[in-house]
Amino acid sequence: MSTTHTPQSVRLRALVDTVQRNERTLRRFQDVELQLIRAQDFPSLCRVLLDYLPREFGLERVTLWLNDTLPLLHELALRHASSGTKRADGNNGKAASSLKTSREMGDAAARLCSQGRPWLGAPAAMDDAARNACFGSEPRPASLALLPLATNGQPSGYLCLASDNESRFAPGMATDMLERFTVIVAASLDNVAHREQLERLGATDALTGLPNRRYFDERLREETTRASRYRLPLGCLFIDIDGFKPINDAYGHAVGDRALAMVGACLRKQTRLGDTIARYGGEEFAVLLQGDLKDSLVVAERMRAAVAQLDLRDNESTNESPSDSPNDSAENGKRIPLTVSIGVSAHGMHQGADLDSLGRTLVDEADRAMYKAKSGGRNRVATLVG
Ligand code: GH3
Ligand code: MG
Ligand code: MG
Repeated sequence: MSTTHTPQSVRLRALVDTVQRNERTLRRFQDVELQLIRAQDFPSLCRVLLDYLPREFGLERVTLWLNDTLPLLHELALRHASSGTKRADGNNGKAASSLKTSREMGDAAARLCSQGRPWLGAPAAMDDAARNACFGSEPRPASLALLPLATNGQPSGYLCLASDNESRFAPGMATDMLERFTVIVAASLDNVAHREQLERLGATDALTGLPNRRYFDERLREETTRASRYRLPLGCLFIDIDGFKPINDAYGHAVGDRALAMVGACLRKQTRLGDTIARYGGEEFAVLLQGDLKDSLVVAERMRAAVAQLDLRDNESTNESPSDSPNDSAENGKRIPLTVSIGVSAHGMHQGADLDSLGRTLVDEADRAMYKAKSGGRNRVATLVG
């Protein structure tokens, strides 16, 4: 019997190799897919797609492009713009895997992925506009796969898998596994976008549109941590509407609600980017400020003065700005004075401090200072010191 391989056994061997290779690939895909399905929030999803996927599949980099013309994804991209943009190997000369939202990239990807099918090939096979949109000044990979993501028939994004091996992704290759993977990525993206929306809604007070106390407490933890890392001071304001019960009693709950919404909007206008404001309880608001006691007192006084200027009327004709406030009349209703009492506290945050108890102290001191402002006559700002 001959020991040499017959052409048939060579073919069989190749077939077995292919099957085994496919099985390995499938298992790797399944592993990534399982992690995608388990991702509960967008940062976790990004970690799987932008860190884990390139590592497991030996890819040069992965880019996730989001269609931010869809409101849900717009919110998502906004919230995570700073945290999700730079990942993976930013060092060793490689471009980092990243999150993008540029219109050009979406248009280019839509041209390439006709009929919602993946596009495979070398950058040289793309037109100039597409190449620029996809890579800009980043180094060009040897080959790439562009996978179109869709939810309810609408394009939600594209995933770009880039390889330094030019035969990794080539036109005419079977794309069954990539297409299945694409469906899972799109569903996971849709899932985390909705989860985050729910979380956002759950943390927002419906009457004022401001974050609620739960959100404030969470931010307090994050802000004390951030301030202690950079050894920065943190300020807190506790704001309570004066004589609010009499307003409710005299004019009714609907007017009271309108007053709350007005005060909330007014206070929010006085906060700076990076500061946190929340409706802490009934007619109480709390603010976290990135600054010391002096900064916090300035903001508090600005808020107090702005609320005192508000033009709340006992009918629907309430004006937001004092400049166009008409005098009392039957038509415009009677003006209802609104004032707030504000307690202010601030602490330097040092590394190694007990941040939980420091956060609680900060809020507690502002609360106590607010009562000092009440007993001092209301419509004023107070601190425990001095
Ligand atoms: P002070 O100057 O001492 O703060 O007096 P106050 O009347 O503002 O304080 P008090 O705590 O006695 O009353 C707070 C009132 O706020 C009682 C409550 O009915 C009212 N309130 C709480 N939440 C809401 C709300 O969502 N809508 C309306 N309309 N009123 C609310
Ligand atoms: Mg109160
Ligand atoms: Mg009150």
